[in-house]
This record gives sequence, C-alpha cells and structure tokens, in this order.
Amino acid sequence: MQDKSRLRIAMQKSGRLSKESQQLLERCGIKINLQQQRLLAFAENMPIDIMRVRDDDIPGLVMDGVVDIGIIGENVLEEELLNRRAQGEDPRYFTLRRLDFGGCRLSLAVPMDEPFAGPHSLQGKRIATSYPHLLKQYLDKLAINFKSCLLNGSVEVAPRAGLADAICDLVSTGATLEANGLREVEVIYRSKACLIQRDGEMPAAKQALIDRLLVRIQGVIQARE
Ligand code: ATP
Ligand code: ZN
Repeated sequence: MQDKSRLRIAMQKSGRLSKESQQLLERCGIKINLQQQRLLAFAENMPIDIMRVRDDDIPGLVMDGVVDIGIIGENVLEEELLNRRAQGEDPRYFTLRRLDFGGCRLSLAVPMDEPFAGPHSLQGKRIATSYPHLLKQYLDKLAINFKSCLLNGSVEVAPRAGLADAICDLVSTGATLEANGLREVEVIYRSKACLIQRDGEMPAAKQALIDRLLVRIQGVIQARE
C-alpha cells in the first residue's frame, strides 16, 4: 500500500524528457536508484517516491490526485486538459514552474509541393495529428473547418500514405519533416517541460518538501543559464 506521507513524483520512463527529468531530480540532491525496470523507485535520502510512466499518463495522474507532482511537456498537459474539458470534467492542478528542457513546437506541415497561403488553405482538408484538441482549438479560432485523422505515431507519413492532406505534429529541428517531404508552415503551440502539482489539501510536511525542492530547482536552472 502507498505510504501517503512520501512525496510521489511522476516522470517519463523512457523518451525525450526522461534523462533530463532524472538529472534535474538528482541535481536537487535526491538519491534514487533507477537502474531497475521498476514502475516505482524510492529515494534513499528523502521521503520521495518516483513513478516512471508513459508521458501521456502523467497529466491524468496529477489531475486525478494519484501522484503529488509531475514533470511533463506542456503540449501533453494542455491536450489532456482540453480532452477532459471536452468530456465535461473540470480538471485541476497547479503549474509550479516551467522548466528549461523539452523545448519543441507543435506545427502544421504540408507536402513540399502543396501550395500554402495561410491556415485558410487547410479549409475542409484532412489533418493527421496526435493532438486533436490543440489543433481544433487553434483552427476553431480562425473559423477553419477540417477533418482530423488521429494517429498516435508515424504522423509524418500520413500524407504520403494518402491518409491526410496535412499534419500537425511536434517539431524540434524540422529534419523529420524534411525527410518525409513535408514543410512546416505554421507553429500552433510552443512547449517546454513543466512541473505540476495536484490540487487539493497537501500535508504540511509534504508541502514544505515541495517548497524546498522548488528552491533547489530554481538554483539548478539558474546555474545552467
Ligand atoms: P512515451 O513512450 O512516454 O509515450 P512519446 O514517444 O510519446 O513517449 P517522446 O517522443 O519521448 O514521447 O516525447 C516526449 C515529450 O518530449 C513530448 O511530448 C514533448 O513535450 C517533448 N519533445 C521535445 N522535443 C521533441 C521533439 N522533437 N519531438 C517530440 N517531442 C519532443
Ligand atoms: Zn507519449
């Protein structure tokens, strides 16, 4: 059974945020043994448990109050927020701070040889994405109707495979787009990793630990600037 007095932190198990999330916690002085392929890792020197999961699960774990803190990309957080609101929920959490890694942008891209004269060129088109809510929020504001094709991977091959006319996907250098004959035409969301805390009552000792960690994180980030 879970020890409620220990601070539970969720981070990505393996992927683009995992190494830097782990490094950040270690630089804050948390001694964790993450060698094993375990879901839970226990800090040796502080009352902290680290839960390592898929990044997509982290916003929900925090919103459901299953973990106290999460390290997550704003893109995934915002998408889950919009997703839950669309289902009539009122998800709650606090953003403790934006972090200095995981930078990327969610962009629209079209085949290299397709003409593009602004977002209106996408009127009535089919767009492949893993972020249907962020995409809809953006295009709704511009009053552009579109059809979406939800793909949770290999989004960039959708136009070539005849599944969609355009894509809306995460980009950092643009090399993947280029390799797939696509060009980035519009940035719809800029993201970084961030630290979030669950809503609701927090035992004083746990909150004091969170506050101490935040001061250390501030120091770690400042030292890197
Ligand atoms: P998981 O197996 O945990 O679901 P994933 O494949 O969905 O992993 P990653 O590719 O590891 O996710 O990306 C995790 C996060 O890293 C993204 O949601 C985003 O916030 C950030 N990120 C930074 N740069 C990039 C990039 N170039 N492409 C994709 N994500 C990036
Ligand atoms: Zn994921």
